[in-house]
Amino acid sequence: MADSTVTIAVLAPDLLGTYGDIGNALVLERRLAWRGLSARVLGVNPGTGVPETADIYLLGGGEDAQQTLATTELVRSTALGRAVDRGAVVFAVCAGFQILGHRYPAAGTERPGLGLLDVDSLRTKDPRAVGELLADPIAASVAGAELGPLTGFENHAARTRLGPAARPLAAVVSGVGNGFDNLEGAVQGRVVGTYLHGPALARNPALADLLLSWVVGELTLLTLDEVDQLRRERLIGQTGAQAMKGRSRTRAWRNWQTRWT
Ligand code: GLN
Repeated sequence: MADSTVTIAVLAPDLLGTYGDIGNALVLERRLAWRGLSARVLGVNPGTGVPETADIYLLGGGEDAQQTLATTELVRSTALGRAVDRGAVVFAVCAGFQILGHRYPAAGTERPGLGLLDVDSLRTKDPRAVGELLADPIAASVAGAELGPLTGFENHAARTRLGPAARPLAAVVSGVGNGFDNLEGAVQGRVVGTYLHGPALARNPALADLLLSWVVGELTLLTLDEVDQLRRERLIGQTGAQAMKGRSRTRAWRNWQTRWT
């Protein structure tokens, strides 16, 4: 059936896509295909207009200049806002995450974001956050989905504070994440922001399936040895090994688990 094809729009892929974030689209497309479902991936570069009818919108990370260029076009268009209003899924990484909020800093200037997530990104005195990031999903924010630990790579100067309408995606086990309250990412309805590169959905396939389930409903379970192996390798990496042994679980982590689950 032609209209069962899931449309995935990658916004500004030529500007926002550090660390292979475009891979998130490929993971979504593949995980649908392995279940016999079809997907159409659209790259939407500035000047071509944001489609209003996609099922999933993806935004990646980028340097300040690229982030600003990409935002200029997105702020001008109301298409993404309308798509969110009708229930479309948005998954945004790093610069993309910041763009979805109310404001973000770029090259010393505060810029307006799209306001689709109740978050503010700002510069603090803290140094750039660079390295592996490991976080435990907050069950209440992800509708109780069993995601397992979230792993990825982060590289950002800004920090992101959540407003009351946004829920945290996860609690940081190691790394920086949002940089406030020991939290990582944000979820508001079907809009998800994160600092995880990797690409995030390759390293965290259950998160990919959660996003897909919001579009196509319940999914059959996939058992893929290579995917499991990649995930295991990442989790057994230095930060993962520490956290798996339970050594770096902080009091803040426990507090957030209690508060949000
Ligand atoms: N320019 C933003 C920052 O440094 C985003 C960086 C990124 O997307 N990797 O905070």
